[in-house]
Amino acid sequence: MVTESPQFNYGQVPEIPPGFNVQEVFVAGNRGTCGGVEMTLAAVSQIMEVVPQEIPIYATNTPINFPQAFERYGDRLKIAGGNISDVPDGSILIVSAHGAPPSLFDEAKSKNLHVIDVTCPIVTEEQKLVRNTAAKGIPIVYLGEENHPETIGIKGQVPKGAIKVFDPNEPIPEDEHIPDGAKLFVKTTNDPARNELRANELKERVGELDDTRILPCYALKNRYAAGKPLIEGVDLWMVVGDISSNNARGLRDIEVKGPAGEGKLIPRMLVGKPQDIDWEMFTPSVRKVGVTAAASAPEEFTQRILNEFRRLGVNVIELPQVLPEMPRTFRLPKEQLEALRQKYAD
Ligand code: SF4
Repeated sequence: MVTESPQFNYGQVPEIPPGFNVQEVFVAGNRGTCGGVEMTLAAVSQIMEVVPQEIPIYATNTPINFPQAFERYGDRLKIAGGNISDVPDGSILIVSAHGAPPSLFDEAKSKNLHVIDVTCPIVTEEQKLVRNTAAKGIPIVYLGEENHPETIGIKGQVPKGAIKVFDPNEPIPEDEHIPDGAKLFVKTTNDPARNELRANELKERVGELDDTRILPCYALKNRYAAGKPLIEGVDLWMVVGDISSNNARGLRDIEVKGPAGEGKLIPRMLVGKPQDIDWEMFTPSVRKVGVTAAASAPEEFTQRILNEFRRLGVNVIELPQVLPEMPRTFRLPKEQLEALRQKYAD
């Protein structure tokens, strides 16, 4: 009997970029999607499956800050940008993981929209705490960009003027009056180091400040805790994420102290897809690369990036987690999804 030799297809020998000298890629153990993002991705996938192709689906904002994850749905997903007045009555509306103010839910009701609310439970908890704090008459200071959907959702929980909002990226303005005894809340995806810096500035200005809610999200804590020691030992730092994500930008900009704490500049890159990799940054002195992924970046995108290095014969080392993760997926809005399923059942 003649046995045929297996037909191997080695494909093309990968072209090594000029100057490329990477020996190892270290990947943070705590990285990528959090419970809120996993829940959102699962909900959007179910909606797309249940709703007929020709019916558009609206969202208050890109459901998570990684638009690449929704490219597969083409133009079925329409972004309302927080203003739902133009969303046709009776449409399907996804409220993004960032949450929304109660006024938006009221408007959605008056327009008879079918709402799928994927607000992250951690954001919902902060909204509740803000309401309770304001109800007790305690002044509130909030760190978040004015126009960010999460800030808008938080501000909408309490009467106008009940919250003083400051941009976490700017020093607290000298001429601003900070009420004594205020409670500090923060946007969940702020860089923890910036929150701390701003909290210290605020504390210098008031006798008493409650900053117990300075780090409300486990995923942010974990991703920074894994990223900070990793970046210290590498020659180039890559973050898988989108520029629209606070968390992605914050992880990209983690400070490197250097061996003597002197501050060290290393090349950094924010990438969503393999084609975003700037190979020219891999000069011969770049031997070790550190990789992490923002809380909004699905693992499949990280693996696609890592495969580029594997393809070039580089040893990719996935490090263990430095802190335990919460359940991978938070609870889906099951009742709202079931109602949608019933609506389109044939
Ligand atoms: S980063 Fe934190 S707050 Fe934001 S969606 Fe994920 S778990 Fe929720």
